[in-house]
Amino acid sequence: MAKINYRDRARKHVAEARARLAETGEAAARQACLALRMAIEALTYQNLQAYLAETPNSVMAQWTPKKVMDELLAADPHADQTATVFIGIETTPGVPSDDMQFLGEDRRFTQKWGNKAHNALGSFLHEPTIRQTETGKATEADARLKAAEIADELDRILETSLFAVNMGEFISFECVCGFHVKRRSSVLSHDDQVICGGCGRHWIYKKLEGDPAYGFVPDGYSFPCLECGETCQFEAHELGEGKVVTCAGCGAKAEVFTQFAVRQVRAELAGADDAGKIQT
Ligand SMILES: [Zn+2]
Ligand SMILES: [Zn+2]
Repeated sequence: MAKINYRDRARKHVAEARARLAETGEAAARQACLALRMAIEALTYQNLQAYLAETPNSVMAQWTPKKVMDELLAADPHADQTATVFIGIETTPGVPSDDMQFLGEDRRFTQKWGNKAHNALGSFLHEPTIRQTETGKATEADARLKAAEIADELDRILETSLFAVNMGEFISFECVCGFHVKRRSSVLSHDDQVICGGCGRHWIYKKLEGDPAYGFVPDGYSFPCLECGETCQFEAHELGEGKVVTCAGCGAKAEVFTQFAVRQVRAELAGADDAGKIQT
């Protein structure tokens, strides 16, 4: 998948916001807030692109900076931190070089800042409520002040030439769909579920017998065939209402479905308010 130049898009959004802030009027202030929200989104997606191999495919459907960054932080607990990068040749392997050169700084906003700024800008994109009008909140002056403050921070982040740095020690494998799945070794534990970023297949990181000692095995479900008793299996990502599984032994088809059921409430959990709720 070709990379999208989100950094360039973020710069254009901030430039547009600055141009709108230079104009007078409520509409211009509102447009500045909208452009800055888009700049925050663009910078979030820029970082997401650096982590695509480490995130489940569902992340691409997310659009709020908070939700995207939840996934980035699950992949890398430092994903929302600014990093300063130095480079140097190790004359003795394992011993840091005594000639480290400064390479640059990858500036990032924290999830907390990004979410707060995105929401604050969003609050100016609605018609003020009666209460806000009465209390004088969410005025054009407030919007301009907030927008200028956020534009300054975004400019500071966009100033550097180093960005989307993602370094670490990784464990990786190729999914059956061909997607190269990788996870930071520091966040991967035995029996963790790993969802492919390409096709959404579920894998379990397992201790194996022999060499290699660890590997990824498909996560799935099994049940005895309702006709012949043979074990039927299907993959975890296929689980859903209406999934039809054909028995490899006899060819009988079984359908996955959900249903509501009732059960007796155990005595220790049965409060006076809970008992008999289903009756009308
Ligand atoms: Zn896959
Ligand atoms: Zn069967």
